[in-house]
Amino acid sequence: MTIRDKLKEVYWKLWLLFGVVWLTFVLGAAGHSKWLIVIGFGMFVAYWIYEKRKFRCPACRGDLRQWLRRKNFTWDPTKDFRNCPLCGASLDSEISIPSCQPPS
Ligand SMILES: [Zn+2]
Repeated sequence: MTIRDKLKEVYWKLWLLFGVVWLTFVLGAAGHSKWLIVIGFGMFVAYWIYEKRKFRCPACRGDLRQWLRRKNFTWDPTKDFRNCPLCGASLDSEISIPSCQPPS
C-alpha cells in the first residue's frame, strides 16, 4: 500500500462516517429523538478524532488536513500532490508497517 492509497482510504472512511453522522442527526431531529442526537454527537466527536489522528503523512506524521481538505469534494484528494507538502516523501512510495514485517 502506498501513502496515496492510505490517504485515499482515510478520506473515504471520513466521508462514510460523515454521512452516518449526518443521517443520525437528521433521523434524530425528524423523530424528535434526543438519544439519536446524543449518539450523532458522539459519532461526530469520533469523526473529529479519527480525522485528527489518521489524516497524517505516514512518513513524517505531519498533519495533512489543511492540504487535503481544501476542496469541497473530489474523488481523489491527493491528485494535486506527488509529494508530501511537509517532508517531501513521495506519495507513491510504499508504507512500511513494522508490525507487518516477517520475523527475522
Ligand atoms: Zn510527510
